[in-house]
Amino acid sequence: MATIGVLGAGQLGRMLALAGVPLGHRFVFVDPSEGSPAAAVGEQLTCAYTDRVGLEQLARADVVTYEFESVPLEAAEALAPRVALYPPPEALRIAQDRLLEKTCFRELAIRTAEFEAVSSREELERAVEQIGFPCVLKTRRMGYDGKGQSVLRTRGDLGLAWDTVRREPSILESFVPFERELSVLAVRSRTGETAFYPVVENHHAEGILRKTVSPAPHLTEALQRGAESYATRLMDRLGYVGVLALELFELGGGLVANEFAPRVHNSGHFSIEGSHTSQFENHLRAILGLPLGATGALSPSVMLNLVGDLPSVEAVLAIPDAHLHLYGKTPRPARKIGHVTVRAARSEELAARVTRLEGVLAATQK
Ligand code: AMP
Repeated sequence: MATIGVLGAGQLGRMLALAGVPLGHRFVFVDPSEGSPAAAVGEQLTCAYTDRVGLEQLARADVVTYEFESVPLEAAEALAPRVALYPPPEALRIAQDRLLEKTCFRELAIRTAEFEAVSSREELERAVEQIGFPCVLKTRRMGYDGKGQSVLRTRGDLGLAWDTVRREPSILESFVPFERELSVLAVRSRTGETAFYPVVENHHAEGILRKTVSPAPHLTEALQRGAESYATRLMDRLGYVGVLALELFELGGGLVANEFAPRVHNSGHFSIEGSHTSQFENHLRAILGLPLGATGALSPSVMLNLVGDLPSVEAVLAIPDAHLHLYGKTPRPARKIGHVTVRAARSEELAARVTRLEGVLAATQK
């Protein structure tokens, strides 16, 4: 079957291979960190993403993808003329820069926060005048899990905010007083076939995703259609192939787009046990031009990330229909080292299992 090359060998690469090996595929990963999570399930080439020898090997794969949106754009652009590479480098280029991303939303009439580009302290002053308080200052590049961003409530916050973004090119956004955070996973195959997962509800702490509830409670047809319409506009604009995750705020019954990830996404991990076909399998089907699998829910499910420390494995596995995934990473504060998905047919039963799981995790998670 196919050899699939992957830029990045983290947990997303590991779960891609765990979905692809049963379909008969083999995986080659490029990642600069030795012994990465995906090395357990495929061949890892330990080198820089732009290393000539590494790129040469990937160019010999049947198809190449990436699992990490901070891979250097040059690596994707060097490969694209030589081998089928999905999602397209254009998606990576836009997702890597919050200013391009928000501008793209605006051009596609996808509702988003007000924003202004900021590249000096003077521009920050002017942008604050335009947008008003409260507002959020974020670096344009390399921001993830809430890093490199700062909320400004008064003029007194300007200096600290400008230091938090390390005086790098940034974007100032209006603060969205959202009711909750949602996301939608969309997938488009090389054949043009498209599918969507039910919208999910996400809970963050310190900028890190902690919990995903699937499907989102009280999900209306209008919210689902709205999220699908935004994702479709983006996929059309980007000539997209693969799984795309779109992060949204719900505000007054409508949707405000925050950002998109041109890859499989943490808020889609529930789909391994919660959906007919996981996001990982569907990403592979999409980039191989195979028919997509059904994206409907098998059962309501909740995913909790394991952040920092390992919980008691025995206590987690004693919970009925709880599914533990460990990524083979050394525990470290604020590091995602695994996740647990718990399912139940009835909502009271699911709530009881989640409470029990949260109790187990509370003993170790920070
Ligand atoms: P981001 O790095 O853009 O994903 O932001 C991380 C988290 O910060 C989001 O999940 C939200 O909880 C919060 N956040 C980001 N941007 C805004 C905004 N414009 N208004 C309110 N909250 C925000």
